[in-house]
Amino acid sequence: MICRQITDLKKNRTPLVSVEIARPVSGEKDVLIRVTACGVCHTELDEIEGRTPPPSFPVIPGHQVVGRVVETSALDQRFRLGDRVGVAWIHSACGHCQHCLAGEENLCAEFKATGRDVDGGYAQFIKVPEAFAHPIPDVFTDAEAAPLLCAGAIGLRSLRLTGLRDGQNLGLTGFGASGHLVLKTVRSQYPNVKVFVFARSAQERAFARQLGAVWAGDSVDESPEKLHSIIDTTPAWKPVVAALENLAPVGRLVINAIRKEDNDKSELLKIDYSKHLWMEKEIKSVANVTRRDVGEFLELAAAMSFRPEVQEYALEEANRALIDLKERRIRGAKVLRID
Ligand SMILES: [Zn+2]
Ligand SMILES: [Zn+2]
Repeated sequence: MICRQITDLKKNRTPLVSVEIARPVSGEKDVLIRVTACGVCHTELDEIEGRTPPPSFPVIPGHQVVGRVVETSALDQRFRLGDRVGVAWIHSACGHCQHCLAGEENLCAEFKATGRDVDGGYAQFIKVPEAFAHPIPDVFTDAEAAPLLCAGAIGLRSLRLTGLRDGQNLGLTGFGASGHLVLKTVRSQYPNVKVFVFARSAQERAFARQLGAVWAGDSVDESPEKLHSIIDTTPAWKPVVAALENLAPVGRLVINAIRKEDNDKSELLKIDYSKHLWMEKEIKSVANVTRRDVGEFLELAAAMSFRPEVQEYALEEANRALIDLKERRIRGAKVLRID
């Protein structure tokens, strides 16, 4: 499935088209993977609608890719034919800049994103530098593993950036693929953290309570207790302002979104310094992921043996999956099945 141009999903419900193209030719550092599952991420909406536009078209989206190695790299011999591997948002980074050397390859100026800067996994085949492919733990099915690669990995990075300590209160604003994986992670890693979930739909709120949230309200509600940190995964600004009000002193709001939409930007004018920022409150963004984030999350998820909740679609139904995501018909994570 390819994206040919930037488009408005409110007017165009079929942004991707199905085409036959040649199998990618892998370079000597690459592995070629036959794809079996690819997660559907909110970032795909940002790419298609032009908030983080692909540098060239057409492009195959998708950055939570699981499949089998069908051509190994000539240089490295990390993987064998038939090995099950995953590809995440980080497709490559330069490896020698100050950020790469410091283990912050997510900040590299040469960072290339799978499914935006190079072709991704809404396809039968994908190529990736071998060093950027991840072994998938056996406990997961292909579809279960897919959302761990982005929603899970970036969720873990967001959680780390909050600086959360056991016994504190954590808020989650928005409760999609990443939010539900963060909640599962917190439940197993921080037994005494109370999680408060802010979500627009009653279905998402019920799902959050079922997974162990102590409270679930609307995205702009006041929480019953002040929160030490909050992770925001919404595309909007109104929940950001509401979240700042719910923060405790020195509380930190971590925004896990590659771009925000402009629709309700005027809400920012409602920021009241004394209510929303005073008392040393902080706002921080999360940029991309490192290979370490992905690898650690896969290990953690396998050790906790938790199963992400997935909703499967056939590859040909990618447009419907994207529209469902846009309209927030969410329970867990959406995954394309590729035969
Ligand atoms: Zn993603
Ligand atoms: Zn670099």
